[in-house]
Amino acid sequence: MNFVSYQDGTLCAERVPLVEIAERFGTPSYVYSRAALELAYREFDQACSGRDVLICYSVKANSNLAVLNLLARLGSGFDIVSGGELARVLAAGGSAAKTVFSGVGKSEAEIRRALEAGVLCFNVESEGELARLAAVAQSMGKIAPVSLRINPDVDPKTHPYVATGLRESKFGIAYDAALPLYRKAAKLPELRVIGIDVHIGSQITDVEPFVAALEKVLEFVDALDATGVHLEHLDLGGGLGIRYRDEAPPAVKDYLARLFQRLGKRELRILFEPGRSLVGNTGLLLTRVEYLKHGGAKNFVVTDAAMNDLLRPALYDAWHEVLPVTRRNGPAQRYDIVGPVCESADFLARGRALTVAAGDLLAIMSAGAYGMTMSSNYNSRPRPAEVIVDGKTAHLVRDRENTEDLFASERLLP
Ligand SMILES: *Cc1c(COP(=O)(O)O)cnc(C)c1O
Repeated sequence: MNFVSYQDGTLCAERVPLVEIAERFGTPSYVYSRAALELAYREFDQACSGRDVLICYSVKANSNLAVLNLLARLGSGFDIVSGGELARVLAAGGSAAKTVFSGVGKSEAEIRRALEAGVLCFNVESEGELARLAAVAQSMGKIAPVSLRINPDVDPKTHPYVATGLRESKFGIAYDAALPLYRKAAKLPELRVIGIDVHIGSQITDVEPFVAALEKVLEFVDALDATGVHLEHLDLGGGLGIRYRDEAPPAVKDYLARLFQRLGKRELRILFEPGRSLVGNTGLLLTRVEYLKHGGAKNFVVTDAAMNDLLRPALYDAWHEVLPVTRRNGPAQRYDIVGPVCESADFLARGRALTVAAGDLLAIMSAGAYGMTMSSNYNSRPRPAEVIVDGKTAHLVRDRENTEDLFASERLLP
C-alpha cells in the first residue's frame, strides 16, 4: 500500500503532512504507517487461510517495540537472531511460544534465556550449536525443540551480501551433513526434533529459487521419514523482495500459492519468516536539506540524514526513491544526495533530478526494513526518532537519541 500522497502540494503520510512531523519531532526521523503495516500483515495472513501456518515476522528488519506490538496484536509470531531481539519481543507483548530462534552464533546465555522463555523452536545451524543446546537444556532439566537449518545450495539471484543459501555461505548445515546430524539429534533426550528450516537470502524477486529450496526440503523430509524421524513443521524462511525502483517481485499471494501448490496435501505446519516484505514499504526516512553544493563535476544535496541512519545505499548500493516533501516549480538539476559523515560511501541516492533548495524536506522511501535497525552512531551522531502515523495522528514511538547518552557509559582513566 502506498501510504504517502501529495495533498495540496505537500507530501503526507496517511493524513499527516510530513512538514508537521518535521516540526514536531525534528529530522532525520523514520516515519512508519500503521495502516500499511497492518495491511501487509493481513495480506500475508489471508493468503495462508485454510492452511496451518505461523507467520514469524523477522524482527531484525524493524524491531521498534510499537511495530512488534502491532504485529503481535494481529497474531504474528517472530523470528529472532539474538537475546536482544528476544527481550524486545517479550517487552512488546509478543509470545515466546510463537518465536523461533535463528542465527549462527547463539551464545550459552542466549540459549538459556530462550529456553527459560519457552521459544517455539531453535533453528540450529551447526553441529557445535546442537551440542551446546543439548548441554544447556540438560543443565536446566529442559527439552529443547529443534529444527535444523539446511543449506539447500540454491542461487537466489540477489545481492551477494544477502544470499544465504549457497554452498559457500556461513549459514545452514550442508545438505549431505544434515541427515546424520538429524539422526544424532533424534537420539539425544534433551532435544525434541520438530522441524526443518531454510532461508536462502533476501530481496529475492523470483519465486523459482523458493520453489527449488522447497523441493530440496521435501526430498529431505521424505528421507527423514524413511529413517523414522517425523517432523511437525517446515520453516520456509523469509526473503521475498519488494519494489524499491522497478523490481517486479511476485505478489505475496502468488508467491504463497506457488509454494502451497508444491506442498500439496502434506499435513505439516508451515512457518514463514518474512521481514522486508512486511515492513519495507511501510516506512520512509524524513530528512532536511542542509546545503546545496555545486562541486566541480557534480552537484550535491547535503542532508541531515547519513549512512549511519540508512546504511543500505552505502552497503549494497541500494536504490531508494527520493521525493520532495514540498514540490517546487523550476528546472530540475541532477544531484547526489549525501550526508555529513566523513566517508565517500556516505550517500543516500545518486544522480537524481530534483528542484530543491536548502531547508527543504526530502522523503527517502522504502525505508521501513533494515533502516533504523542497521543504524549506528558513527561520527557520534545520535540516531533518528521513530514515528508511526495512524490516520491523522502521529505518535512518537522512539525518542531521538541525546548526544550525552552516546558517551554516558564511557569512563576517563584515573
Ligand atoms: C533476515 C532473515 C529473515 C528475513 O529476511 P527478509 O528478506 O527480510 O524477509 C528470515 N529468516 C532468517 C533466518 C533471517 O536471517
